[in-house]
Amino acid sequence: MVHRWHQKSWDQLVIARNAKHLPHAILLAGAKGTGTQAFAQALVNSLLCESPLENYHACGECKGCRVRKGDVHPDYFQIAIEANKTQILIDQIRELNDFLHMSRSYLTSRVAFINPAEALNMNAANSLLKSLEEPANNSVIVLLTAQLSTLLPTIKSRCQILHLATPSKTIALQWLSEQSIQHSPEELLEMSSGKPLYALALDNEEHFKRRNDFANDLLAVMMQQQSLTEISKKWQTASKDELLSWQIHWVQQLIKYPFNKVQAQAILQIPHVVDSAKLWQLYDQLIKLRRLAHTSLNAQLFIESMLLLWMKLSKT
Ligand SMILES: [Zn+2]
Repeated sequence: MVHRWHQKSWDQLVIARNAKHLPHAILLAGAKGTGTQAFAQALVNSLLCESPLENYHACGECKGCRVRKGDVHPDYFQIAIEANKTQILIDQIRELNDFLHMSRSYLTSRVAFINPAEALNMNAANSLLKSLEEPANNSVIVLLTAQLSTLLPTIKSRCQILHLATPSKTIALQWLSEQSIQHSPEELLEMSSGKPLYALALDNEEHFKRRNDFANDLLAVMMQQQSLTEISKKWQTASKDELLSWQIHWVQQLIKYPFNKVQAQAILQIPHVVDSAKLWQLYDQLIKLRRLAHTSLNAQLFIESMLLLWMKLSKT
């Protein structure tokens, strides 16, 4: 499915395909939670379809589409972070290279999908370069990243980069209001930093509870009512991306509304916080940590370093 705010990007691909100039390596770049995954899936589906529609969406009926629905398409290879790993490793890319150079089995093109591309470690990325440089016949490699700037320049230069926009607030709110949600679309969108699909996923009590729980723990560490090690241990299996997105959101709120004492979340009433320079510093450091979220750092240490940033903040 292609969301309305990504239609222009899809149209660019349509033009390229009509001109028979579809690149063999397409790097999709856009923020998480804005429908980039759906866009990538729509592209993969259409590449595996034997008779795509005029707008190049998959027909849904041909043999290619039917096999694709069963998730066992012999011409499709997907690479993700494997269980208990934090990066995409070289062995996975070696398998991909073998797949791309195998003899053909089906009618459509051979398609590989790598997501998240920023999780490729150095060796894996270098191993991928060869396939990007000398593409196998009729193959397309689709990569998806939410952090284009962290990708190796050698990878980026060998791909056609297609930017997937984050929708404007108006369009995002309009879309959210059309979904069946329990919380206010404004609140959800604010919490998701303007990412509509992420906002929709946040619309559940369990998430609200977990987020609140983390806010309270963070506050307790800052007030030295709880030990840093204990709290880090408690959260070590949580998603680093999720923890960071909460914190980045809170810091943004603190920067935007420094004197608002009636915040719903306790974390936003940190008594010591008045110095906006310090908040900006914290913001930068959290963004830096987010870039490291896919590296193989020890999870507990990672959480500890997050919490330490906040502890520094409370020291005047
Ligand atoms: Zn089809």
